[in-house]
Amino acid sequence: MKPLGPIPAGFGVIDGELAIGGETASALVQRAGDTPLFVYSRSLMQQRVAELRTHLPDRIKINYAIKANPIVPVLQVMSELVDGFDIASGGELAMVRQAGVDPARVSFAGPGKRDRELAAAIAAGVTLNVESAGEMRRALAIGSKQAIAPKLALRVNPDFELRGSGMKMGGGAKPFGIDQGCIPELAKELIGAGAQWCGLHIFTGSQSLDSDAIIDAQANVLALAARLAEDIDEPLPKLNMGGGFGIPYFHGDQPVDLPAIGAALRNQMNNLPEIIANTEFYIELGRYLVGEAGVYLTTIIDRKESHGQTYLVTDGGLHHQLAASGNFGTVVRRNYPLAIANRFDAPPEEEVNVVGCLCTPLDRLADKAQLPRAEVGDLVAVFCAGAYGATASPSAFLGQGPAREILV
Ligand SMILES: *Cc1c(COP(=O)(O)O)cnc(C)c1O
Repeated sequence: MKPLGPIPAGFGVIDGELAIGGETASALVQRAGDTPLFVYSRSLMQQRVAELRTHLPDRIKINYAIKANPIVPVLQVMSELVDGFDIASGGELAMVRQAGVDPARVSFAGPGKRDRELAAAIAAGVTLNVESAGEMRRALAIGSKQAIAPKLALRVNPDFELRGSGMKMGGGAKPFGIDQGCIPELAKELIGAGAQWCGLHIFTGSQSLDSDAIIDAQANVLALAARLAEDIDEPLPKLNMGGGFGIPYFHGDQPVDLPAIGAALRNQMNNLPEIIANTEFYIELGRYLVGEAGVYLTTIIDRKESHGQTYLVTDGGLHHQLAASGNFGTVVRRNYPLAIANRFDAPPEEEVNVVGCLCTPLDRLADKAQLPRAEVGDLVAVFCAGAYGATASPSAFLGQGPAREILV
């Protein structure tokens, strides 16, 4: 037996079935037309942002990092909930514009921005989180060609990282940001060149469940920002402090301690060094805002035995759920939270392997899971599917094509 991850709070049961936003899984599948289907819950996103607003100091603004889930309906929900948006490509710029987001609320990070992406962002009035000296000079040149003073912030590659994070984005040699020692000189250069100085972006890592590590990283970010502002000899208009709040995917994972993080941040805000006393502070979160609000529904196509083990073969798989299959940045494969959606309140009765329909042994959704007895035609729900699902999976692999996606 291998344990399943914890099913997030906020889902209901109607007539024994998993319910999302007050509708049963089977009704949602009927409405969408077929499986595989991603269902995203507006109310769970609203609840999540409300919890953040309750616990974080008022002056901390919240950005949504859209790479977690960039579909237009989700962006429109987020647009009413959060303060700003972080994008990481010209394609994502097109998505936020399609969703009707004011480009003045958008900042654009990410290495390897092409000149045409810089030009589109500068013309739209998006803030660029500049990733290198070369990129800064290209942005300045494009700004002067457009006769616009570009909005430029510098992304810092800090000397520290977010301990315990799933994806490290700082500390040592990295393709992201500008080494902290080079920041003051470049900031002076961009201010001297007439760009709009928008401050700093310091992102230290992602998917951390270690609240003390998040608190330490935030303290380190604030101290570094103050030191750099002193060296630049200008107050800092904005500081994007990064995020990194993780969600529990696996058995034994505990959610981050939001009250503790909020209390520590309030303490920091009450004791700010003078040079950053009037700075606007942002945190940027992706999966924490949307990850637990999404469920991936797939239908059991076949039930078979092999060498004494039972396999439930579904019409979904790693082409939509690369992370749940264990092939997106994990070393040891563990089971995501998963359930038989139309037998949601039934007790576990058997040990099964749930697999996808792709012809590769990598395509697994659950190994040796304890589940109610399931038959062909039943629905399997994979939870924590709201972030890095549809867009972070190889949907063209084996000719499968994309999943359906709905917001309820
Ligand atoms: C990926 C990324 C995020 C979002 O990470 P989550 O783990 O989804 O919160 C935020 N900021 C930057 C710079 C990123 O690259």
